[in-house]
Amino acid sequence: MRADLVVVGSGLFGATIAQRAAEELGVRVIVMDRREHPGGNAWSQPDPATGIEIHCYGSHIFHTSDADVWAYANRFTAFNDYRHHVYANHGGEIYPLPINLGTINQFFRAALGPEAARALLAEQAAEITGTPANLEDKAISLIGRPLYEAFIRDYTAKQWQTDPTELDASIITRLPVRLNYNNRYFSDRYEGIPTAGYGAWIEAMLDDPRIEVYLGQDFLAPDGPLSREACVGQVPVVYTGALDRFFDNRLGALTWRTLDFDTRVLPTGDHQGTAVVNYSDAAVPYTRVHEFRHYHPERAYPDDATVIMREYSRPAGVDDEPYYPVGTPSDRSRLARYQQLAAELGGQQVAFGGRLGTYRYLNMDEAIAAALSCFEDQVRPWFS
Ligand code: UDP
Repeated sequence: MRADLVVVGSGLFGATIAQRAAEELGVRVIVMDRREHPGGNAWSQPDPATGIEIHCYGSHIFHTSDADVWAYANRFTAFNDYRHHVYANHGGEIYPLPINLGTINQFFRAALGPEAARALLAEQAAEITGTPANLEDKAISLIGRPLYEAFIRDYTAKQWQTDPTELDASIITRLPVRLNYNNRYFSDRYEGIPTAGYGAWIEAMLDDPRIEVYLGQDFLAPDGPLSREACVGQVPVVYTGALDRFFDNRLGALTWRTLDFDTRVLPTGDHQGTAVVNYSDAAVPYTRVHEFRHYHPERAYPDDATVIMREYSRPAGVDDEPYYPVGTPSDRSRLARYQQLAAELGGQQVAFGGRLGTYRYLNMDEAIAAALSCFEDQVRPWFS
């Protein structure tokens, strides 16, 4: 083994671990990824026909309130000053998201001020008494049933195909509800898109003579010098693939969602006027449409072509890329048993991280923050 540390998966968690270990500890790191590019689902690259930067696995907008994470990210890329806004298509009409005073007044054909809107939502949310324990109750407690049914229920059904009473309330508290006209999608202090794209950002993180990157390498395939069997117990490993797959699903598979994308080049300079339109209604089979040119207003893109991508969600089979942990109550008890198996590997110096390795719905900044902590708490002590 030519490495002191093996990192499985080159998404933001794995890339952060590799970068820190190489720079801080001076160790030789092998990073491997099953895909032919690094960066996991954050990867972006220019479309060959139009030059428009495509987020190959759906829109990624970097946002954080963590000053350390922001400073760390800015070592490897500059960010433009893009601010994310999302619109919803419901009943053939466009509404602003996240739900704000504009959405409420348009939906109720009203001109309510903040206090009147608060009173209306409180009246409509009154059916929920006690602490809301699942996504549906939480959403109704925040916005009442009419807005829930218009903007959340069917979108969530398409996205998760799981009874919303089985889904965790935290999924919906990702979105703010605002009683003013601020329709910025995120409330974080820092936000932007990497000016040269996510691909260039990740490549800059991995650009270190002590880091070797092997693409198209499956750690879980049985043979080979970089397989699980060859590495675990021989060299410290940070694994960022799916937790259940590391253990060959021996306790049963965790439930994951995957996405399918339908990408098209259209002969127009602007198809929808914004980066993301969500389709709230069950009648439209896709959840949202991305139009990537809007992420880089600072770039000179063609004015007669645009790239759009429709996003479809479905259950992940064994050969699909897992994207979203579903986290039903039975997943949560299975997860605890997998975590026990992972803890039992402790003596062999294996750490699990990232959205897939911890079965947590992490944003990009949270993945970096978790990797910075994992580096300090687990990886650094292996070498001291
Ligand atoms: N959501 C919804 N309607 C929307 C947008 C979001 O019901 O128009 C719900 C849905 O359950 C979704 C969750 O809020 O899974 C989180 O949305 P977010 O935009 O954060 O999802 P992501 O971009 O991570 O897929």
